[in-house]
Amino acid sequence: MTSPDEKYTRETITGIRVWVPGKLFSFTCTRPNGFRFTAGQFARLGVDNTLNIPGEPDIIWRAYSMVSGPFDEHLEFFSIVVPNGAFTSHLSKLKVGDTVCVDKTNFGFLTTARFESGRHLWLLGSGTGLAPFLSILHDPATWDQFEKIILVHSARTAEELVYQAEIQAFTDHPLMSELVPDLNSRFVYVPVVTRERVANCLTQRITQLIDNGELEQVTGLAFEQTDSRFMICGNPEMVTDIRKSLKNKGFSPARRNSPGEIAVENYW
Ligand code: FAD
Repeated sequence: MTSPDEKYTRETITGIRVWVPGKLFSFTCTRPNGFRFTAGQFARLGVDNTLNIPGEPDIIWRAYSMVSGPFDEHLEFFSIVVPNGAFTSHLSKLKVGDTVCVDKTNFGFLTTARFESGRHLWLLGSGTGLAPFLSILHDPATWDQFEKIILVHSARTAEELVYQAEIQAFTDHPLMSELVPDLNSRFVYVPVVTRERVANCLTQRITQLIDNGELEQVTGLAFEQTDSRFMICGNPEMVTDIRKSLKNKGFSPARRNSPGEIAVENYW
């Protein structure tokens, strides 16, 4: 239990899914009462420093994008395991029934409110940078705002291309398919695996796929200033490179008081 004066609550872990042992996992936990967020935002999660890592506080905090949609009853997160990482060394050892601290405030600006117009939303993510896009996809409001949504997820290996089944079945989601007309024809999924050959997956880095026009070709959707809006999330190097490629094509960052077509989030 935490006192009402605390800035965080302790939430119970209700499920854990290991995607790649020792590398990637997801977990669900109870959702704090009154914890509201916009799809694409992140929470601050805390774990007790039970390993007594020197130089770290009693509770170690890190930013984590919500995977779950704004209307889901639970919260879901998708995590890397960083070798000797102060936070993930603890987080990856937690079990169902253990607790994780969740800051009462939500944070972040990787939301579709950044865009004033546009018809096609391109979600470009590498590794765990997939997380906020799953939340954005599960928000019916995104589908009111955009005609088409293209999810491009890049992973190094096939096993790291997670949430495949959910993404493939997304258009059959009972609530979403009821709320969003023609969902099937409005969602495009482009899986990318860069370090091995996998059937039905592109193999080049997202930057290259933008530069050489392959992304437009495989989706049948051209990048247009009036139509295209881009969200990029994950590895900072990838974010910078994609931003440069898009800038070369005439797109610019969406900033307060300055409408643009690109919104980004760096994970470190
Ligand atoms: P740290 O000391 O924090 O990191 C050590 C090093 O590990 C970093 O310098 C970097 O090289 C590498 N690293 C850190 N995070 C990642 C990552 N996600 N993927 C690959 N390499 C990484 N992480 C998630 O796993 N899932 C999320 O949804 C997520 N959302 C984030 C949202 C925001 C806004 C930010 C700023 C970060 C987010 N992160 C996310 C990263 C997360 O906050 C921590 O960095 C991560 O949990 C590792 O913590 P650590 O203490 O174990 O290692």
